[in-house]
Amino acid sequence: MNLKYFYIALIQLCVVSSFHTASAQQLRGLECNTLVFEKDIARLLENKKNTKTITNRTNTIDFVPLQFHIIGNIIGNTQVIENIIFDAVCKLNSDYSKTNIQFYIFDKFNYINNNLLNNITFPYISPEAASVLSLTKKEGAINIFIGKNLTSGSSAFYDPNLDLIYIDKNFIGADDIILSHEIGHYFGLLHTFSGWEETVYNPNLPTPLFVYRGSTAYFVEFVDRNKNCETAGDFLCGTPADYILYWGSGCHYNGGGVDPDGVYINPDESNIMGYYSFAGCYDYGFSDDQAEVIYADFLSREDLVQNKLRIQEQISDTLTLTSPLSGIETIYTDVTFKWEAVENATTYILELSLSPNFSEFEKYILLHELEYTAYFLKNDSQYYWRILAMNETNPCDRKFSEIRTFNTVDYASDIDEIYHSSGFSIFPNPLKSFSKNFFLNSKNNYLGADLKIYNLHGMEIHSLNQQHLTEGINEISIPEINILSPGIYFLSINHNRTKKMLKFIVI
Ligand SMILES: [Zn+2]
Repeated sequence: MNLKYFYIALIQLCVVSSFHTASAQQLRGLECNTLVFEKDIARLLENKKNTKTITNRTNTIDFVPLQFHIIGNIIGNTQVIENIIFDAVCKLNSDYSKTNIQFYIFDKFNYINNNLLNNITFPYISPEAASVLSLTKKEGAINIFIGKNLTSGSSAFYDPNLDLIYIDKNFIGADDIILSHEIGHYFGLLHTFSGWEETVYNPNLPTPLFVYRGSTAYFVEFVDRNKNCETAGDFLCGTPADYILYWGSGCHYNGGGVDPDGVYINPDESNIMGYYSFAGCYDYGFSDDQAEVIYADFLSREDLVQNKLRIQEQISDTLTLTSPLSGIETIYTDVTFKWEAVENATTYILELSLSPNFSEFEKYILLHELEYTAYFLKNDSQYYWRILAMNETNPCDRKFSEIRTFNTVDYASDIDEIYHSSGFSIFPNPLKSFSKNFFLNSKNNYLGADLKIYNLHGMEIHSLNQQHLTEGINEISIPEINILSPGIYFLSINHNRTKKMLKFIVI
């Protein structure tokens, strides 16, 4: 039977059986489980055809938008941290260096707290989850959802019907290849071993002329490039014949596989669309024709082309921190962090940690402003903080500031102590500058007490005579003319033989 006959048979089988493909899908850990439908193969062939008409490829780099959706559980936990996404896009751009595209982070991160999406199943996505994914997608970008895990045990998938990528947060980052692989599928690439997704190649049996996926027949690709590489396997001749669904025996395939002519196969173990790519052995990449297909598919997606960029902003300046100053001891637990703007930085991350190597974060905040106030920090602790400046068009170019430290004192027990010994306490303490009042907690009633506020130099700032203090909380007003600027102050309380001096701070 000649090869042409098989090719026709393949297309016919695809037509009648594409809806069976999902039901026969085998699932394995650490694999991507992208479904392939007839229309996807048609698109690949169309892209291949279009590569012939694309000119001026070598001088053009287009920056392609990625819309990230960060999924957490219903109470907002378990999300991937944003800096890892920058790591991932930086890695992605390295993996796609051969293509004419690079990637940038489109719009802002979209945060979704949804248990259903956080633990999604695949390939049988529930209609409810599919509906939420579809409604959440944003036009004009490649949509990537990062959730907690895939209950099937896979690391990621590209869904051709929803046209989106879902990835387990444990498989995205500076060293992971999975996202590059899924975006390869997004642009229409098949596995280098396409057709063998449900069949384990057995070198002890004669190699068949075609292999089934569900009831769909695929030609088995010959080693000889003059035979059927255009119509078999992944339909690309730049990727050698490959039948290997799983290879756990080192970085070089030596399993003795032969093609139907008995010629030893020599697959490209460093190709991103193969499954050797999970072994972490190589600087993985695409073949020339895969790179051409990727670019052709990108050009066919008008919504992406509309949002492409041509420039990458460089963050050149170093980052200067303003406050708090390094090494200070502070009695207050609300701390405002400030830094200077950096040219071309669009996003900052404040990292606040109790560990000098930032192994865990007390605060990890993505910001578009130049200051942030953290409330209710822990007493009696040494904090470390730094700022990371970033630009979404250039995810590799991130600049960390120096690391600064400050200490909080055991402030709460001071209040208790003062109150216990003096019978008074002031709150809030510290007091915000420009406050028009504060509160005095008193253990007893005092009819006609004299109150005075002094600064650190002993200068009287404000006096309130003949005040009626009641047991409990008393509001003390400060007239606008005496508004207190940041500094240390003392409140004296005089009533008959009761004379007390309380320290308070204005920040
Ligand atoms: Zn795949």
